[in-house]
Amino acid sequence: MDVLDSFRLDGRTAIVTGGNRGIGRAIAEGFADVGADVVIANRDEESGAAAADEIEAAADVDTLAVQTDVTSEADVRALAEEVVDTFGGIDVLVNNAGITHHNSVADKSVEEFQETIDINLTGAYRCSKYAGEVMKDDGGGAILNVSSMSAFIANYPQHQVDYQASKGALEAFKNQLASEWAEFGIRVNNINPGYVFTDNIVHGEKTVDTWRSEMLVDEFARPADIAPLAVYLASDAAWYVTGESVVIDGGYTVR
Ligand code: NDP
Repeated sequence: MDVLDSFRLDGRTAIVTGGNRGIGRAIAEGFADVGADVVIANRDEESGAAAADEIEAAADVDTLAVQTDVTSEADVRALAEEVVDTFGGIDVLVNNAGITHHNSVADKSVEEFQETIDINLTGAYRCSKYAGEVMKDDGGGAILNVSSMSAFIANYPQHQVDYQASKGALEAFKNQLASEWAEFGIRVNNINPGYVFTDNIVHGEKTVDTWRSEMLVDEFARPADIAPLAVYLASDAAWYVTGESVVIDGGYTVR
């Protein structure tokens, strides 16, 4: 097979949680570019539907928007059912939905800490559980968790211990899931971005200067810079890659 052909996802169905905006939107667009039918699963119905429509208009694929809160097991179960009803199966799941509470421990309530864990970690579990059962029955698939370089380092100067805990846990989660589901042909990998300018980033001039001083590449990433890695890990080009975490951070964690 031609090398570039091995990156294509023609005829595959990919769910992207939080696919309406930011990194998830860019990944959804990247999948559509290489031929996958794309399902946008996020909380806000209007922007989810708009994203699905815009992606379908720009690429020769089918899309679907399913309003989904990843903290709701009923929503996630219904998501998997609707995708199977519409497309016949699920080939790729991207657990991208994520939040941060940018505040110090003194100000961060236990409820805020738990909310981050519930979305970033348990949300990935809910989606993997229901999508994974479908993949198992169909002979396999690929699960990607959008983790972070924050799984491996302390971030500075912002305070976000809830976020670090959720992303660190996603590493062990990925290792174990990859191990347990290898026999079903399901690959599980993490993408670990550095600073990507999206709504998620809370920054001021001083913060940006501090971050920039730690980077080897003197520019922040755009969401579209993460998409090619997601395409690779979702595709047959990465058939031998599982249980892996790929850091894409402009060299931030080297320093
Ligand atoms: P944004 O803040 O731009 O978007 C967050 C996304 O998550 C939205 O699509 C939102 O949907 C969705 N979401 C949040 N909560 C839920 C929920 N309960 N159920 C379903 N969807 C939900 O985030 P980014 O694009 O910046 O981040 C995407 C992922 O990348 C996150 O996991 C983040 O931790 C990770 N990441 C980001 C980095 C960055 O620098 N930006 C760096 C490293 C990792 P809705 O609009 O409906 O609320």
